[in-house]
Amino acid sequence: MKNWWLRRSVRFRLALWYAAATALVLFAFAWFVYEVIEHRLAAEIDRQLRIDFDLMEAQLEIDTEGRMHWAVRGSHGDEGFARMSAWFEVWSENGELLLRHWPVPEANIKDAPPAPHGSTLKFATVELERGLFVRMMERPGRVRGRSVIIRVFRDETETRRTLSEIVEVSLLGFPLAVALAAIGGYLVATRSLAPLNAMARQARRITSESLSKRLPNPNPNDELGSLATVFNETLTRLEASFAELQRFTSDASHELRSPLTALRAVGEVALRDGHDPTMLRETIGSMLEEAQRLTDLVDSLLTLARMDATKAVATREELNIPALLEEIRDQFEVLATEKGQTLAVTSNHNVLVKTDRTLLRLALVNLVHNAIQHSPSNSKISLATARRPSGVDISVSDSGHGIAPEYHEKIFEPFFRVDKARSRSGSGGVGLGLAITKRAIERNGGRIIVESELNRGSVFRIELPVDRSAART
Ligand code: ADP
Repeated sequence: MKNWWLRRSVRFRLALWYAAATALVLFAFAWFVYEVIEHRLAAEIDRQLRIDFDLMEAQLEIDTEGRMHWAVRGSHGDEGFARMSAWFEVWSENGELLLRHWPVPEANIKDAPPAPHGSTLKFATVELERGLFVRMMERPGRVRGRSVIIRVFRDETETRRTLSEIVEVSLLGFPLAVALAAIGGYLVATRSLAPLNAMARQARRITSESLSKRLPNPNPNDELGSLATVFNETLTRLEASFAELQRFTSDASHELRSPLTALRAVGEVALRDGHDPTMLRETIGSMLEEAQRLTDLVDSLLTLARMDATKAVATREELNIPALLEEIRDQFEVLATEKGQTLAVTSNHNVLVKTDRTLLRLALVNLVHNAIQHSPSNSKISLATARRPSGVDISVSDSGHGIAPEYHEKIFEPFFRVDKARSRSGSGGVGLGLAITKRAIERNGGRIIVESELNRGSVFRIELPVDRSAART
């Protein structure tokens, strides 16, 4: 049953729910109306019976022979009518019938009610014969000083007919109303869900080649509209990621091609004209240089790919940042000295932070390498760390040529270089260093920002959060 229900369309299910709810409401309403009318009609008959009783009691007489008889005293000559419709019995207290007046022949009555016992006020509905229901009121009275029990009757046929008419009308109208509700519900649901079909049709047309298409969204304020909005936003993000991926692939291919082309060109020239051993040695040297470039590039690409593939940071250990900075300074000491630069570590505190050592080291190595590369000789490069209330700051500052503000965001994109020609010809990389650095820091829950002015140097600041750190003095 559950499966059957789930296999139906939403429209069908909504229509069915709608019809069921309508049926329930209608049933409750009809039942309520029936109960109210029945109660009112019954109360009215009982009220009439009380009036009848008073009239009867006043109109009963006992003649000289002690027999009970009915003296009709109609004031408008309506005795005939009164005689026809009056319906009563007079009983003695010991259960003897003294007078009976029924408007129907007594012989027709098969189940006459038995003699009364007890002398209290009583109301009852009795079926005198099949289908003939009467309401009866029994009450003690006095006729000329004699105690009697008087019963008055009223036909219930009309009341019952009214009630059965209500039932009939309800039974006839009920299926009709439910069917109308079901059809109405189906139509309303079809109309309301129409945009969903349009969305599904459009979504089917969207492929990786047409990610710029969007779902139709005629009313962004309703539920379907907000679904379309969310879906369209997802498409926008997907499109951006896809474009980024495409750009990355084409940049990577381009970067891989350049050294390969150079390798081939150098090789071909050497093969053609290379008779001189000195020249051949030179050729092999430059070929090895290009091979080294390729190796570096592939290594960087692999690092990036690995970082993107695994989301969680594998190891998180408590790290002494000043000690790590000293270690990096020692590593680059020779390179800096060659360029006449000085590397200084500034730290007042023994700053500890819980982080992934390899990733943080990789980030810092890239930053210091860049600082050395982009600073003039005889300049100073500082590595500093400080505690903040919400975490730990690590900065790498140089007084090099700086970065123009419009590139502050872009330098973290893969393959972006401010001056491509210079990087390619010099010892510069392929523009993956800062992209790797940014990912490494973000994987540690931190962020990296650059503050730089053209010709005044740059500061790269890493902010690691406190919840991942255990900084203490
Ligand atoms: P690369 O491998 O070419 O150094 P990066 O991603 O490390 O690539 O850096 C991207 C670009 O950012 C570099 O080409 C350079 O123009 C600029 N850049 C990075 N660090 C510095 C710095 N300390 N001073 C000036 N420019 C920098």
